Amino acid sequence: AAKAAGRNRLGYFTPELQQAALQRMRLSNDLREALARQELFIEYQAIVDLRNGEVHKAEALLRWRHPSQGVIGPGVFVPLAETSGLILEIGAWVFMQAAQQAKQWRSRFDSGFQISVNKSPVQFRQQADNMPVSTSWSDTLQQLDLDGDALTIEITESLLLEADDEVEAQLAALHAAGFQVSLDDFGTGFSSLAYLQKYAIDLLKIDQRFVRNLRPDAKDLALCTAIITMAHALGMKVVAEGVETPEQAALLLAAGCDYAQGYLFGRPISAADFERQWVKT
Ligand code: C2E
Ligand code: MG
Ligand code: MG
Ligand code: MG
Repeated sequence: AAKAAGRNRLGYFTPELQQAALQRMRLSNDLREALARQELFIEYQAIVDLRNGEVHKAEALLRWRHPSQGVIGPGVFVPLAETSGLILEIGAWVFMQAAQQAKQWRSRFDSGFQISVNKSPVQFRQQADNMPVSTSWSDTLQQLDLDGDALTIEITESLLLEADDEVEAQLAALHAAGFQVSLDDFGTGFSSLAYLQKYAIDLLKIDQRFVRNLRPDAKDLALCTAIITMAHALGMKVVAEGVETPEQAALLLAAGCDYAQGYLFGRPISAADFERQWVKT
């Protein structure tokens, strides 16, 4: 028995692990067909201006309607797409969808509307043999006759961690094309504060783990307040993620936070539902 326990601790390939690995392999194979079969779709979540409750921004969030397993979230399949390289094709599709949606909402309802799109570091590394992402995204803008500031590119700290001249150049090119750049999940990675100064970043998104336990006396409030103060001093705006209660929203507003996103205001929903809920005509 002692020997068996020792084996488990050493991480032998158990039947459960084998099952999980098989499941990932199957999903990864299915994903190859998902785009062509039109199983991927996007939901939009409102980003609310805390000062006046207005909504002029949304985040595009990718979902997969799997033929037998139902709707699968990006936390499960985006990592698979990154490993297989499919994320390049999928990412280009997401970008085009979001750009078209921004174009539509800008012309029909709100000329300043912005949609943010998540980008994984893998998409920034493709330039070796292909063209830089900033070029292909600028081409999309031109095709649609859309201003760059209609779109915000969400990157994560891991991109800055491995940052080299190439990443710096691409972020600068995105800016030159008019895109806004947003740093997602701030506080969960290990990026040094020096990066915030070095790279062209417009928005900081405070990760939901710091928002979850916000209370007047909690240390998380001190942390959020410090992040907001620092971001403002560096000329950035701040979005709080995962805001679920009126108390959290009130504390964030008092701390000077600019925007909030979370179930309190609305879940990610279809473009049609988003129009019904948020667009004033
Ligand atoms: P993220 O960019 O940090 O997105 C926020 C996540 O928090 C979303 O999960 C959203 O549904 C969830 N959320 C929003 N409000 C609340 C709340 O009040 N409470 C809680 N508990 N959760 C909330 P989702 O949609 O599952 O996406 C997970 C991650 O997948 C995203 O995190 C993003 O990193 C990635 N992702 C989504 N779409 C894409 C995409 O098109 N491309 C890439 N590369 N990654 C994507
Ligand atoms: Mg995001
Ligand atoms: Mg986030
Ligand atoms: Mg995330």
